[in-house]
Amino acid sequence: MEIFTTPAAMQAWSSRQRAAGHRIGFVPTMGALHDGHRALIDDAALRADLVVVSIFVNPLQFNEAADFDGYPRPIDDDVAACAQAGVAAVFAPTAAAMYPPGFQTRVVPGPLGDVMEGPNRPGHFEGVVTVVAKLFAAVRPDVAVFGQKDYQQLRIITQMAADLDLSIDVVGHPIVRDPDGLAKSSRNVRLSPSQRAAAVVVPQALDAAIAAAVTTDSSYDVVRAATVVIEAEPLASLEYVTVFDATDLTEITDLGAVERSPGAVRIAAAVWFGDVRLIDNRDLFEP
Ligand code: AMP
Repeated sequence: MEIFTTPAAMQAWSSRQRAAGHRIGFVPTMGALHDGHRALIDDAALRADLVVVSIFVNPLQFNEAADFDGYPRPIDDDVAACAQAGVAAVFAPTAAAMYPPGFQTRVVPGPLGDVMEGPNRPGHFEGVVTVVAKLFAAVRPDVAVFGQKDYQQLRIITQMAADLDLSIDVVGHPIVRDPDGLAKSSRNVRLSPSQRAAAVVVPQALDAAIAAAVTTDSSYDVVRAATVVIEAEPLASLEYVTVFDATDLTEITDLGAVERSPGAVRIAAAVWFGDVRLIDNRDLFEP
């Protein structure tokens, strides 16, 4: 397995592989790899000849210094996990290699970035889209796999690839969960044992919302069903729960006005446990 630390070295390898006729699959990550990342890598391996994983904790997309500083960075374990997963190349640039002195250009998402996580994390998606554009330029993949865990991010990146004619196939992979239903996340290791136990209310709240949606057309009631589950947990602090159109991400208030079919409507939540912020989402009408 190759390891590259500069965009130029990554590009040189990628150009050689493409010239040799190899199809490149790409999984961008911030490291602290878990079974969710592994599922994306395995998915990419089915869609390409060679898989590249990037590991880069992108300073541009963090709103809070404490979150950036506290983000786990077990780089040796991550490299070993990539080798074990059959990854062909790891791209692990330094921040200085990605943003050298004089760097100034940003890629700005459209209205998809203005809802949900957008207003709650100012600058976050601009940072994400900018780094992903740079990672795409370094890796030049044919296909890139992103998790539905960050559903809004997946939609924004899909839109960017289309809008900027990148000819990269952006694929969404289902959310991988712990046995109790909590979505796997690199941030879960920052939860105390009691917070980790309490965090199960996040998937439970989404379950309650999905159950409520069977019998009501009111999104308010659906959101309420999720809210009461989270508010019953003293260690949880709810930031938002929202029901939205799975394609354009606009909020849906009347479920009577939409198609009740799989893939049409999603529900998402952001919940704090101490200083750890967790997000999750589900298809409201999943089969
Ligand atoms: P991160 O390292 O958290 O930036 O995530 C890198 C990629 O892995 C993103 O596309 C995430 O959506 C995806 N991902 C993270 N956690 C999960 C999960 N539990 N299930 C599926 N994909 C995930």
